[in-house]
Amino acid sequence: MSIFDLDIIKEVLKDKENARQLLLKPERKIILNLNVWLDEKTLVVTDGYVVYHNTARGPAKGGIRIDKNVTLEETVDLAERMTLKTALTGIPFGGGKSGIRLDNLKLNSYTKRVILQEFVHMIRGDLVSGMYIPAPDLGTSPKEMAVIYGELHIPECVTGKPLGIGGLPGRREATGRGVAFSTFYSVKNILKSDIKKMKVAIQGFGNVGSWTAYFLSKLGAKVVSVSDITGGIYNNKGLDIIKLMEHVSKSKPLLEFEGDKISNEELLTLNVDVLIPAAVENVLTREVALKVKAKIVVEGANGPTTDEGDEVLKERGIPLVPDILANSGGVIASYIEWKSAKSGSMTSSEEVYEFIDGTIEKSFDKILKLAKTRKISYKEAALSLAVEEVISAMENRGWI
Ligand code: NAD
Repeated sequence: MSIFDLDIIKEVLKDKENARQLLLKPERKIILNLNVWLDEKTLVVTDGYVVYHNTARGPAKGGIRIDKNVTLEETVDLAERMTLKTALTGIPFGGGKSGIRLDNLKLNSYTKRVILQEFVHMIRGDLVSGMYIPAPDLGTSPKEMAVIYGELHIPECVTGKPLGIGGLPGRREATGRGVAFSTFYSVKNILKSDIKKMKVAIQGFGNVGSWTAYFLSKLGAKVVSVSDITGGIYNNKGLDIIKLMEHVSKSKPLLEFEGDKISNEELLTLNVDVLIPAAVENVLTREVALKVKAKIVVEGANGPTTDEGDEVLKERGIPLVPDILANSGGVIASYIEWKSAKSGSMTSSEEVYEFIDGTIEKSFDKILKLAKTRKISYKEAALSLAVEEVISAMENRGWI
């Protein structure tokens, strides 16, 4: 189901049939037949998808995902979220996304490189014109963004590049920074408590999960549990996040770190104050949501809560900070990187953090106010604000 079919968005679009029609379908869906010879005998054949959902507010912005479960439907859903995320935070981009269906865990970096080169050749025109600006997502990293840059030699054509070739200090940790700030701000303004008193569980210890844990522990929160695809570790006294990051960076299994071993489902239902799903989609189902014990959920991943899970959390009075706000730090930093690439200016990581925190704070305040006046959830308020922004841009463009 399209996110634009949610009741709250239907309500915003009630008397705006033209806008509804434009938002229900992406502007463009491109299906790529990716065929790449690795050597004389080995041919890799797979599908790639590029989706531009809505570009009323600016060029399509969104990461490239490499994963064995990538589908066109998933890519559309993620592009829709990018339209809403950029609109909510006031970043002058539209929503896009791309995906390549391959098992990332089985790819070596050479194979990844040639597949990405082919991907770039197939959508070269859109990348050169700046119509679509990719960034890292699941299965891609600054290394892959360097491949894209290497094919085009246009600094602003891709963000999330490594430092030294136009990458932004602070970009690597930007999404986690934003999730940590959103958590801090929601603890203060929704739970009316102190981050230092919070016990936190984080699903996923990749880019988003690990940096979220890092910044939260710096703020004084106790991160008691984290996980990866193999399972989780738990220490009621709090995990040493710096040591854990060092452990994982040496390619040591997460589960070999000291602490009790738990499953991903156990992590989601731990007796903690804050739960941060920061791995994959659809983990907070109705069944899991019924067992959540946290006082608040902050969505680090894209779409970790199903619609049914969301309903249950609402009924149980557990506030949810939505992905389009909580994990917007990455796209906010991407905007600074893109702007710096165009102007040739330089920025420090401290300035990047400050811009992320300030941008999220501004959007969060609007959400808190709207949720209070209309007596709706924070997710409903965020979606309403974002859709109104996109409608206004489409009106300005004369599309509706
Ligand atoms: P990543 O590949 O760096 O890390 C993913 C983590 O999730 C890993 O620890 C992995 O082991 C774990 N994982 C994978 N499948 C799992 C499963 N079935 N159950 C439990 N854990 C599982 O990815 P990332 O960049 O950290 O992205 C995580 C989420 O955040 C995704 O939804 C992504 O779209 C979203 N996101 C990422 C960024 C970014 O800047 N990287 C920005 C916005 C949103």
